[in-house]
Amino acid sequence: MDHLDCAKRMLSFIDASPTCFQAVANLSRDLRESGFEPLDEAQEWNLVPGRCYYVTRNQSALVAFRMPHAAEGGQGEEGLVQGFQMAAAHADSPLLKIKSNPEMPFGDWYVRLNVERYGGMLCRPWFDRPLSVAGRVVVRTAQGVESRLVDLGRPVALIPSLAIHMDRAANEGHKLSVQKEMLPLVGTGASAGRLQQQVADAAQAAPKDVLGADLFLYYCQPGCIWGVDQEFVSSRQLDDLQCAWALMEGLKAAAPAPGRVALCAVFDNEEVGSSTKQGAASPFLLDVLGRIAGGSRVLPRLLANSFLVSADNAHGVHPNYADKADPTNRVVLNQGVVVKESASQRYTTDGISRAVFSLICQQAGVPLQTFANHADVPGGSTLGNLASSHVAVSAVDVGLPQLAMHSPYETAGVKDAAYLVQAMRSFYGSALVRTADGSFEVR
Ligand code: ZN
Repeated sequence: MDHLDCAKRMLSFIDASPTCFQAVANLSRDLRESGFEPLDEAQEWNLVPGRCYYVTRNQSALVAFRMPHAAEGGQGEEGLVQGFQMAAAHADSPLLKIKSNPEMPFGDWYVRLNVERYGGMLCRPWFDRPLSVAGRVVVRTAQGVESRLVDLGRPVALIPSLAIHMDRAANEGHKLSVQKEMLPLVGTGASAGRLQQQVADAAQAAPKDVLGADLFLYYCQPGCIWGVDQEFVSSRQLDDLQCAWALMEGLKAAAPAPGRVALCAVFDNEEVGSSTKQGAASPFLLDVLGRIAGGSRVLPRLLANSFLVSADNAHGVHPNYADKADPTNRVVLNQGVVVKESASQRYTTDGISRAVFSLICQQAGVPLQTFANHADVPGGSTLGNLASSHVAVSAVDVGLPQLAMHSPYETAGVKDAAYLVQAMRSFYGSALVRTADGSFEVR
């Protein structure tokens, strides 16, 4: 696979996916174009061997899967499904959320927007960047209410810095107040009501019919490939749309493995703790697995014969801050997929899951690097453990190395998305069959 072409395709997905709603809508469209059929959680499912499906929840989380082909000569005693080969990523990223009643006039001269933080963002880089508005609005219809996705797609807001002359200590760092210092400017005094009008226009509704909204500000500079030899890729939301996109590409490209359901979940709300109905700590994944299995009685047996790859980006060693990285398990951009390990099990990786995933990567010709936190610098948590609280399976935490995590413009290696696609294609295309507690056969 050409890594440059892969990076460009990933960027066009991220450019079109400013919030989790657009990300899930774009993944859904790509899946439909690849033959996946939509399912509705509120309907009966009649799953057919060999067919591919996807289901969304809250328009912001998605599970896609491929049913195994029926075995020749019937199913035998074990049935059609013998285990799940799953991967998970998240579609949400730190953004500024627009509150209700957002307009804050400053005399007759300016209008600012009232916002709050969604997720643990790096605040400083949000200043002096053109911002746009995207998300979901819920409009009144003749029958009730209906959700519509909106993306203004052009700069409409900006948070201006205070000049150095008025804050001589600006470069020495101070604690930022989001409520005071990060309110974006959106227009002059004459612009009152204009943003609401434009959002309503984008939803093809009258402003009075917009009854609810989940709207965010995002940095509207498209992603780019850069470096003297095009080594790097920068974009908003690489964490974790880079992994979400690569997992789905791997799923679509993989050949079916006998008896295995190949499945990919993309969750919402990872950046705020995952404890929503569409987050990794919800029973969404378990609900889908139960329906595929055809009941909860067989599920424990199937789960014991299953495997999960939790994919969320990892911190590459920053050349200006190498002391923040672990001395021996530091990872570098363009050097392949990262497996994450932690003694406290903040990452799910253990000896067995690491060994299985290493073997998959070796067979796929994909380089693997190991990340561990510097013992004095606690890292973030990932989806793996949260998903495991409902769906207890052998799991490995992986990711792609990046810099500037949670900045509005993050940086990764241009080669790494292609490595993850290749690894996942091999993962989904192999049957990982448990032969004993602690042993897997990789066919
Ligand atoms: Zn993440």
